[in-house]
Amino acid sequence: MSRTHRIAAVPGDGIGIEVIEAGLEVLDALAAAEPDLAFEVERFPWGSDYYLEHGVMMPDDGFARLRAFDAILFGSAGDPRVPDHLTLWGLRLAICQGMDQYANVRPTRLLPGIEGPLKGVTAAELDWVIVRENSEGEYAGAGGRVHQGFDHEVGLDVSIMTRKGVERIIRFAFELARSRPRKKLTVVTKSNAQRHAMVMWDEIAAMVQADYPDIETDKMLVDAMTTRMVLKPASLDVIVATNLHADILSDLAAALSGSLGIAPTGNLNPERDFPSMFEPIHGSAFDIMGKGIANPIGTFWSTAMLLDHLGEEAAAGRLMNAIEVVTGRGEVLTADLGGSATTAEVTEAVCAALAGSNV
Ligand code: NAD
Ligand code: MN
Repeated sequence: MSRTHRIAAVPGDGIGIEVIEAGLEVLDALAAAEPDLAFEVERFPWGSDYYLEHGVMMPDDGFARLRAFDAILFGSAGDPRVPDHLTLWGLRLAICQGMDQYANVRPTRLLPGIEGPLKGVTAAELDWVIVRENSEGEYAGAGGRVHQGFDHEVGLDVSIMTRKGVERIIRFAFELARSRPRKKLTVVTKSNAQRHAMVMWDEIAAMVQADYPDIETDKMLVDAMTTRMVLKPASLDVIVATNLHADILSDLAAALSGSLGIAPTGNLNPERDFPSMFEPIHGSAFDIMGKGIANPIGTFWSTAMLLDHLGEEAAAGRLMNAIEVVTGRGEVLTADLGGSATTAEVTEAVCAALAGSNV
């Protein structure tokens, strides 16, 4: 039976544009290799150029247009000419929050052939999924500035946590832990210093835990968590944390797995009331944009997550396998992984691996 998936591509800014083009090439290669599988892709050129021309990151009907798709592939929002909080809130957060993509899922693994900075740590020992609360908390957007420009100016960013918001992300993380062989969950907190919402977070985690007696659960303060990730990586499996905490921990996780350039993420609306959005974790990378040397693997891995989400597990598996064949060979790697290959060369190698041939 033939299957067609409608994908909205939002490349955004900087290397986002370069890696999303690469990701779409890989989707084409997947479709070419499997006659029953097709993708209808529409590109939306929204981002900072659009902002400089129109004063907004995406048009008024942008949200409604994206809603009609099965999934969204996103690059990056961020440009040296526009303040970061405008680009981020105007595009990426507007989509994530508007589509209630409350579960941000960030797998971290040492891919074959890639050596992380942790000496002697094997692929079996570093295999985590970080689950990030993606709809509220420190990035709820609540706050303001009063007496702007005066000595007595006040700035407030208010973290908002709701019982419903916390419970649904903790439950999501337990379910994910249950689907993995090791069945472990670490709940990250900071309830020693933050004595209101984080204490509620802990209480809700303990309450939900009662429904998952088969999952080995522990609790970690976020500062201590950074040392545990570095010193005892094998002790971790699934990790759940607030919006801010997981944002930071997942960049650390990406670095420990070899490079920010390979790290993928999915912004999921698990109920499927809205499309989910998949993107590499990295940003626009001003220092390398336009040079054609960005690592596209984070985007390829995100594309595999997108396929998985659409029920195309076999295609997702073939793509992951092609990525691993290329990293395992170690010949076609970008500079962030110690190689000298271009984005196009890595893309070509992955497409060739998908087609079953070698380059
Ligand atoms: P960044 O991820 O853009 O870059 C950090 C470092 O990692 C840079 O040295 C960069 O060259 C390197 N790097 C990142 N991705 C790479 C890749 N695929 N291949 C090779 N090297 C790679 O983070 P930053 O410098 O903090 O942010 C730059 C801009 O991107 C800012 O405007 C920021 O707001 C934005 N940003 C957007 C998102 C997003 O849209 N999801 C995420 C992070 C940062
Ligand atoms: Mn981040």
